[in-house]
Amino acid sequence: MTIALLSILLYLTQKTEVYLLVGLIVALVLIVVVSIESITRPPKKTEAITQGNLDYKVGVQTRDGIGQPSGYFDEATEKLKASYFEDLEKKVSEKTKALTQRIEELDSEQQKNKEAEEKALIEEAKEKATLTGIGEGVVVTDLQGKILVFNHAAEQMTNWTASEVVGRFWFETVPAMDEKGHLILRIDRDMYKALTTGKKVFAESIYLQKGSKKITVAVTATPIILKDRIIGAVEVFRDIGHEKEVDRMKTEFISLASHQLRTPLSAVKWFCEMLLNGDAGELNPEQKEYAKNVSDSNERMISLVNSLLNISRIESGRIIIDPKPTNINKLLSEVITEIKVKSDTKKQQIIVSVHSDLPLVNIDPQLIREVYINLLTNASKYTPPGGEISVFISKKDDEIISQVSDNGYGIPKKDYDKIFQKFYRGENIIKIETEGNGLGLYLAKAIVESSGGKIWFSSSGGSALGGESIEKKGTSFYFSLPLSGTQAKKGEVTLSS
Ligand code: ADP
Repeated sequence: MTIALLSILLYLTQKTEVYLLVGLIVALVLIVVVSIESITRPPKKTEAITQGNLDYKVGVQTRDGIGQPSGYFDEATEKLKASYFEDLEKKVSEKTKALTQRIEELDSEQQKNKEAEEKALIEEAKEKATLTGIGEGVVVTDLQGKILVFNHAAEQMTNWTASEVVGRFWFETVPAMDEKGHLILRIDRDMYKALTTGKKVFAESIYLQKGSKKITVAVTATPIILKDRIIGAVEVFRDIGHEKEVDRMKTEFISLASHQLRTPLSAVKWFCEMLLNGDAGELNPEQKEYAKNVSDSNERMISLVNSLLNISRIESGRIIIDPKPTNINKLLSEVITEIKVKSDTKKQQIIVSVHSDLPLVNIDPQLIREVYINLLTNASKYTPPGGEISVFISKKDDEIISQVSDNGYGIPKKDYDKIFQKFYRGENIIKIETEGNGLGLYLAKAIVESSGGKIWFSSSGGSALGGESIEKKGTSFYFSLPLSGTQAKKGEVTLSS
């Protein structure tokens, strides 16, 4: 447009009419063409804007009418730019917020994972430390008996390494045997019982190490129960070889000491008898009383030494068990005759009831006699004068049950679990009956168990088996013997009498 105006002025200065007219027309045409072009075609500058460059200025021309749209355009661009940036700012701020939140979430998740990982590691370390530090062997199996965990002590005790045994069957990997050297079947293994019954099992066993050496162990097998379902078991086993050896030595010592004591005690007995018989001259009443006291005390000592000797013989397994077909009724009558000497002085009544057709039973009469003597002596000793003692022998299923009851002092409830322990004497009777050593029931239990039976006590009040002795109302002791009889055992010694 500027060029057109210049050309008009140029031609005006040349004063030629024709040229003036033609120049005027050309100038007009040029003006029209250029104006139309500038209005209809978007200026090139807007392309920059459409491509996103909102800072681009089209240019504002205020002197001519054609420059006006460019000014509007720039204004609109400014507005567009403002709104665009506003929108962008909003979007950026929202995105930043969302990103910050996500980063925080990720951080916290990461923290949590880290904590959980650390916790798991600590737990694992604790478990490992506990298992490694434990002196007892620990083996964990699944329901089939496949080894899952095998600790360091278990490795040492069996000579197997964890890497060798994990995944193998426990029963086959570490076989067990009884005292006679017979292999124990899988169904009789403690772990198997825990897995099948869901109950804790305590036992002693002999395990065969890798290399076939033997090790004596005390075992506790506990089932692992999850939501009422057995999913495996854990067995803790301890080498008790040393304890057993110490026990054996103690028993041997007691046996030896008791044996050695018997000779001097027998000598005291003879000399007391000679004195009391007047072999060394007639004693005056006071001397007689003293000699009698010496003799009584000596008798108590002999009884104690005999009990200790018998216990050591049974415990050491040296006792001979020599079963013979025995008429239990006859055996009982002989014992009662002996007991009557004491019970009559206390004016106690003895009632006996024996199953009518009791067969002869293959038992060691000398041993079982000792059990009857002990239970009947106790019944008389721990029942006040004028009391009642009853003996019942019955046949139940494949067992013979003997029951000795009294209506005496009874056993205090707090002492129930001590009754069969060595040297136990009830507080309620110590002041009433001073004589006793607390070894009779222990010996009776040892004899009954080595004869294949069981012994227990209950209320004289007459409740079922497994009831209780009621203090001041009396006691009932029971023992069972298998009708099939007792197994013979070769030993070295018999009970001393
Ligand atoms: P001892 O009779 O020599 O004390 P035992 O081993 O035979 O030893 O008995 C242990 C204890 O059991 C007795 O001291 C007594 O406290 C209690 N006891 C045994 N039998 C009876 C009984 N029939 N009635 C009450 N207590 C008894």
